[in-house]
Amino acid sequence: GHDNPDRSVAFYRLDMNAGMQERMRIESGLRHALGHGELALYYQPKFEIGTDRVVGAEALVRWVHPERGLVSPAEFIPLAESTGLIVQVGEWVLEQACAQAAVWQAAGLPPMRVAVNVSAREFTNSLPGRVAETLRRYELDPSWLELEITEGTLMHDIERVIGIMDRITELGVALSLDDFGTGYSSLSYLKRFPIQTLKIDRSFTTGIPDDANDCAIASAIISMGRQLKLRVIAEGVETLDQLQFLRKAGCDEVQGFLYAAPLPAYEFERGLRENWLL
Ligand code: C2E
Ligand code: CA
Ligand code: CA
Ligand code: CA
Repeated sequence: GHDNPDRSVAFYRLDMNAGMQERMRIESGLRHALGHGELALYYQPKFEIGTDRVVGAEALVRWVHPERGLVSPAEFIPLAESTGLIVQVGEWVLEQACAQAAVWQAAGLPPMRVAVNVSAREFTNSLPGRVAETLRRYELDPSWLELEITEGTLMHDIERVIGIMDRITELGVALSLDDFGTGYSSLSYLKRFPIQTLKIDRSFTTGIPDDANDCAIASAIISMGRQLKLRVIAEGVETLDQLQFLRKAGCDEVQGFLYAAPLPAYEFERGLRENWLL
């Protein structure tokens, strides 16, 4: 026949090699980036719907590559997670976010939570101690910090995870549940988690107001959040129609391109000065 088993095996191996080489190239590049100051943090404001005021900012990492320019975290975070490099990336991000928040605190800005994304692999017993130590070092009030975790974090050893969450919230640092609705976390656990905020994933926001299912899911998350006394924020808000729907549904906060994209710190500050704190 035309099928040559040996040849297909050879191609398969070649493919594996190409994939692995690409991964190794990104991995060593990321190691280099960590050591050479090629990572940057951008800040995207979060707005309270009722008052239109900034209530926080999400810190989002970027890789400022000398040749490729700004590389999206979607390209390197999953790889960093699978190689374990996410721990070093996460340490850098927490450090940088606290340093920046301390500058804003010292400048006399009204308290505003700077939210840091934390991957499941970073959510270890040593995290609360590291957070406490970082807050101390920058003399940063804990009301300036928030950690965003995903449902994936909650899927492992639930008692251990709740223990870590308790230690973090006891510091006065807020926790939010990111990309809510996209994972498999059991709703019955939700009331046991010491979290303050549910974040509606962008995949639902995008369908508002045309997709009836997305509208139903967003409304259900918002009303469940109210019942459980949690704040609810919608991410990825791009249109006035979406904002209007979310306002009517009782959503507390919004974040998205309608207001602002993630910005370098100096542009974020300019936004505060010229628009968002008025
Ligand atoms: P995420 O935590 O769900 O972050 C929201 C993403 O949506 C960000 O993408 C943000 O730039 C983007 N976004 C915000 N508003 C809009 C909008 O109105 N429309 C659209 N189309 N997009 C919007 P980004 O910055 O590329 O980050 C992608 C993901 O990478 C994040 O998703 C998060 O899972 C991960 N990530 C980013 N920074 C970090 C980090 O420091 N640590 C960890 N562990 N993960 C991070
Ligand atoms: Ca997030
Ligand atoms: Ca999110
Ligand atoms: Ca998301």
